[in-house]
Amino acid sequence: MGHGGPGWEVDLVAGLRCHRCTGEVVCAVRVPHSFLRADGTEVGGTRLVALCPDCDRGRAGAAPVIAYFRAHGRVVADRVEELAGLLREWVADVGPARAGDLEHSAR
Ligand SMILES: [Zn+2]
Repeated sequence: MGHGGPGWEVDLVAGLRCHRCTGEVVCAVRVPHSFLRADGTEVGGTRLVALCPDCDRGRAGAAPVIAYFRAHGRVVADRVEELAGLLREWVADVGPARAGDLEHSAR
């Protein structure tokens, strides 16, 4: 995996809707994202990756994150590191393969 640098942040967006099934997502994470435009210019930025309890249920990395929110209901301050570890695995799983699709959901 080419990424793995530091700097992505857990940015939870309340009430966000899944762009696939329109259900409410468990959480959304803003991750660094850069890509090459057609003219060769590299564009850096972030994209928003949403976790849907229905659409992402089958993903290996998603299940622990969904379980975390089911158990805690929200992010508990002293458990942020635990959550970050779960999110990292999920983002690594969901990130590269679905880049185009997910980008569409970002504003
Ligand atoms: Zn969905």
